[in-house]
Amino acid sequence: MSGNRQDLVIGSFEKKALEAPASGRPASEIFGELVFDRRKMPRYLDPSTLSALLDCIDNGKPLDRKTADAVASGMKEWALEHGVTHITHWFQPLTDGTAEKHDALIDYDGEGGVIEKFDGSSLIQQEPDASSFPNGGIRATFEARGYTAWDPTSPVFIQEDTLCIPTVFVSYTGEALDYKTPLKRSINAVCDAAVPICKLFDPAVSKVYSYLGWEQEYFLVDEDLYASRPDLMSTGRTLMGHLSSKAQQLDDHYFGAIPMRVAAFMRDVEEAALRLGIPLKTRHNEVAPNQFEMAPIYGEANLANDQNQMIMNLMGNIARRHGFVVLLHEKPFEGINGSGKHNNWSLGTDTGVQLMAPGKDAKGNLQFIVFLVNVLAAVQKHNALLKASIASASNAHRLGAAEAPPAIVSAFLGKTMTQVLRKLLELPSGTPVEIAGKKGRKIGLVEIPEIFIDNTDRNRTSPFAFTGNRFEFRAVGSSANCGGALTALNSAVAEQLLDFKALLDKELASGKAFEVAVMDTLKPIIASVIDVVCFDGNGYSEEWKKEAARRGLDTEDCVPEMIKAYTSESSVKLFERTGVFSLKELEARNEVKWETYSKKIQIESLVMARMVINHIVPVAFDYKTRLLKELALSKEVFGNLDSCAAECELIGELSSLIEDIRQKVERMQLDRRETKACPDAYSKALAYSRIAENIRALRKLVDRLEEITDNRLWPLPKYRELLFIS
Ligand code: ADP
Ligand code: MG
Repeated sequence: MSGNRQDLVIGSFEKKALEAPASGRPASEIFGELVFDRRKMPRYLDPSTLSALLDCIDNGKPLDRKTADAVASGMKEWALEHGVTHITHWFQPLTDGTAEKHDALIDYDGEGGVIEKFDGSSLIQQEPDASSFPNGGIRATFEARGYTAWDPTSPVFIQEDTLCIPTVFVSYTGEALDYKTPLKRSINAVCDAAVPICKLFDPAVSKVYSYLGWEQEYFLVDEDLYASRPDLMSTGRTLMGHLSSKAQQLDDHYFGAIPMRVAAFMRDVEEAALRLGIPLKTRHNEVAPNQFEMAPIYGEANLANDQNQMIMNLMGNIARRHGFVVLLHEKPFEGINGSGKHNNWSLGTDTGVQLMAPGKDAKGNLQFIVFLVNVLAAVQKHNALLKASIASASNAHRLGAAEAPPAIVSAFLGKTMTQVLRKLLELPSGTPVEIAGKKGRKIGLVEIPEIFIDNTDRNRTSPFAFTGNRFEFRAVGSSANCGGALTALNSAVAEQLLDFKALLDKELASGKAFEVAVMDTLKPIIASVIDVVCFDGNGYSEEWKKEAARRGLDTEDCVPEMIKAYTSESSVKLFERTGVFSLKELEARNEVKWETYSKKIQIESLVMARMVINHIVPVAFDYKTRLLKELALSKEVFGNLDSCAAECELIGELSSLIEDIRQKVERMQLDRRETKACPDAYSKALAYSRIAENIRALRKLVDRLEEITDNRLWPLPKYRELLFIS
């Protein structure tokens, strides 16, 4: 590694020349250009194929082989017009990111040449080897084969020269091996549970959609600086690095002007995203230096999640063209804000009603309250599971670190809605309730004011906040697949809606008027959540930890322990009842989670040890040697060390730091070796959570060393260089 960091920084200035301006074509023209969407289908599919395909997309009707062939042939025609030469099934295994296996679109023509070939069977199904992907032991008991199967609800798209077909990934025996399969099951579960309730309000409702609007936070670092940080390259975060003197104290980055190079990068990402039908809407600086965010207009959850996976990939590729590397890690820099991915989530009917927003009239408002309260109840009952759904080795750095979500899942409602719910509780039983609409009709006893939507106050410390027409699940990590969190959330809400409907049916059967029956069913639920899961205070405070424990919320903050919530009795019941996961799938996925956790920390520990021994300690020795030489010289010249107190002190501190570091590295190596004896994935992950603590302790020593060592000798780019793009 070169010791000359100044060169690297200058390199980044020169990169400005590489800025490639986006084409400047209007968004309306390029939107969806590379997607085989509904607008294009009629041009490439005959009417009967088109209607069979739409029936499959909208109503889940299976496609027969003949229709699949006709669809594939239409897609091929469109793809060839765009210079496509390969196809791939594009899926989301339980690793980071997406997987692809490209096949050329060719076959022998029988006359010694080749033809472009793409038929229904290669559209519908492929057979990647499941043993190459995390499967949590499902492979050991069954066949290694895995299948990818086309998900017609997410349109195929073109990336470079390849036609990408979004697919689910399942084992030979049908167990989910990916994020998409359970997400789709949970979307169906919540739809099936919500529709019968909606029908009571409006018989015309036949479908309920889950919506997702993700806000993707990320850091950018200069490519050259990144290349000289083995920790960033191997683990996605800095394992060492003293906080720069200017970090985020001034809050001057948030919503500040976007640096030119970054703006050029964003424009390119936006253009590429629009062409892929991703409606990117918002871009801005985030709190930390070099931290940014982008968010699209929300959409149907399965598609929106696919688009988030696409964009994470896209950002990485486009950043390279601008001399950047994108960091999607939740905590790339210690002492600086981490990155999350707020999952804005809501439900809506096929009649255009937003179920998480106040309605147009009293009835609509009552429906809104029904859904709002049931979501709160679901979050309360399954708060430990929801936390498990966002837990990972990298997100652990955010959780409970007093800068992002606390390691306790509670819900923030805001003043207005809290008041509305409390007022409802005070009503004598049997009182007919009309909740006034936005227009301020005053017939009812409880009123939702007109200004309601804009009135929701913000509580940034809440992991799950109501924001007027949706909930923001804020605890999700920036590198996560949103599918994990949304699957848990949708399933929990589905189960709660089933329970609610059963209770409501009983009330209705007793002959009560509809509004009275609804209120009588709702009130005990409101009473059970309002002072338990609902929390409007400071989620980062120490008092909240105690209070939350008293309220019976889960306060576990160790990731391997959190993961266990997936197989708790209530979770297993939830997932089996909603048909989202079998016990076998849950157990297999926990194995994968624990294994992934252990591997990530194992890599961090290996990289840390190597950096410390090969880069850091030698530099400390060099510096110490130089100081010792100075002392010898002083002695020679002055005959004593009277004026060398500073050097002596430094040498003392260097020596003791070096010794402490050496011991900690040794301890870490021994601990790592000991993990080999752990009997299962869970205990191994627990052992690694202790190693993670050691890494943190070791880091403190190295950071102190950085602080006292001659800047000219330090072998790694420092935070002040990594964090400020010019
Ligand atoms: P903020 O940073 O203030 O939370 P943003 O505008 O950055 O808000 O992002 C809000 C996200 O929420 C966007 O993706 C937006 O489309 C999405 N959103 C808005 N309304 C809904 C809704 N009803 N359901 C789901 N997502 C929504
Ligand atoms: Mg938000």
